[in-house]
Amino acid sequence: LFSGPIAFLKSAPSLEFLPDPEVEEVAFAGRSNVGKSSLLNKLTNRRDLARTSNTPGRTQELNFFDVGTPLKVRLVDMPGYGFAKAPKDVARKWRYLVNDYLRGRQVLKRTLLLVDSRHGIKEIDREIMKMLDDAAVSYRVVLTKADKIKASDLREVEALTAEEARKHPAAHPDIITTSSETGLGIDQLRKAVIEAIG
Ligand code: GDP
Repeated sequence: LFSGPIAFLKSAPSLEFLPDPEVEEVAFAGRSNVGKSSLLNKLTNRRDLARTSNTPGRTQELNFFDVGTPLKVRLVDMPGYGFAKAPKDVARKWRYLVNDYLRGRQVLKRTLLLVDSRHGIKEIDREIMKMLDDAAVSYRVVLTKADKIKASDLREVEALTAEEARKHPAAHPDIITTSSETGLGIDQLRKAVIEAIG
């Protein structure tokens, strides 16, 4: 799936700009700086498919990437959340955009929710977990930047994260641990995308 063509389709700053729901979608969500762009690039073997932008308010868009010819799946890069300096109206706009997308998008098969393995699930992540549970969108927690912490700390955060995921109705009971730096978990992540659309 990921060895064929992959192309940026469009950005949607609001729902009117969503592409036609002609193919299944798998979305990627997480706090700003969680490593989402790096992971999307690693997943698709592209150097800068997803661009990193750490400017708050600049990334309040859904970005769509087409995978395969003929088109097989659309990857959706959701705007990062939880930026410390984001003004209130930016946070509110994010909430509306994401909530409307999650609730109304029949072709959305799964969301991969990225969580920094150094921090584990935070309150702001719980808010989006609740949005996903309420919208009944199936999701799976993916730990990022696993190369950044000691193996023993990683085991601990994996256990705690999986334990919490299992309490959420729409969450997959198993988490995936990744590193864009070392390639850890990337094959598993690819399988999770394929499984979501299978
Ligand atoms: P985004 O804001 O979620 O798109 O995050 P980025 O992909 O831009 O990553 C934020 C920062 O974390 C950048 O400096 C990346 O180089 C770094 N980073 C991302 N993933 C990893 C990883 O797996 N390991 C390490 N060591 N650094 C990472």
